[in-house]
Amino acid sequence: MRNYRYLFSPRAWRTPIGIASLLLGMVLLSACAVPAQPGPVPTLTAQPAVQAKATSTSIPATSPAVEDTPTPQTSPTPAAAACSNPAGLTPAMTEGPYFKAGSPERASLLEGQVQGMKLVLSGTVLDGDCKPVAHALLDFWQADSGGQYDNAGYIFRGHQFSDANGRYQLETVVPGLYPGRTEHIHVKVQAPNGPLLTTQLFFPGVVQNDSDGIFDERLLIQVQKNGDGMLGVYNFVVSAK
Ligand code: FE
Repeated sequence: MRNYRYLFSPRAWRTPIGIASLLLGMVLLSACAVPAQPGPVPTLTAQPAVQAKATSTSIPATSPAVEDTPTPQTSPTPAAAACSNPAGLTPAMTEGPYFKAGSPERASLLEGQVQGMKLVLSGTVLDGDCKPVAHALLDFWQADSGGQYDNAGYIFRGHQFSDANGRYQLETVVPGLYPGRTEHIHVKVQAPNGPLLTTQLFFPGVVQNDSDGIFDERLLIQVQKNGDGMLGVYNFVVSAK
């Protein structure tokens, strides 16, 4: 017992045995510290490898996904909320000479081998209180990509009805130009118990918008590219009474 007490007393460390013990302790401590040094080295070499993998895989993986995913989701959803009460009614526009009654009921005007840039136009029919109008009539007609109307048949003509949430979707092509006019799509919209609205929709960034006497920027479709085609959004606000 005495020996142990002696070892832990301050005097013991001033003896040669004490000094030797101190040196041994320091050697042991430094020996323990050595393995800690190589630790970070493999970690550092591992980090660049992880980063290299992350960059090489994430760039090709994310960039196509970013283009693919938002396209179908973003276009229809936010536009449906873009209405402030009381909403201004969609302006009326001249019917033009090419309307033809009796168009087939269909949501796609693409039949056979069509030329031109495909366009999916969608949106909501709302009333003046920004409430969706279910079962509203939408009757579309337009020129083909070469600027020609089909006056003998019903090519690029079709009507449909909005769904329970006032939503509609039309599959077509971007219409071509014809003399004196910019790109436009004709449409008649009518709530079940409302008056018939006749109007036209336009495309942003078309040079001929500036020289078309009846162009109205309130009737501009919001467009974005979608692969080889385009997505367009337009919400109609109509009187429902
Ligand atoms: Fe026209």
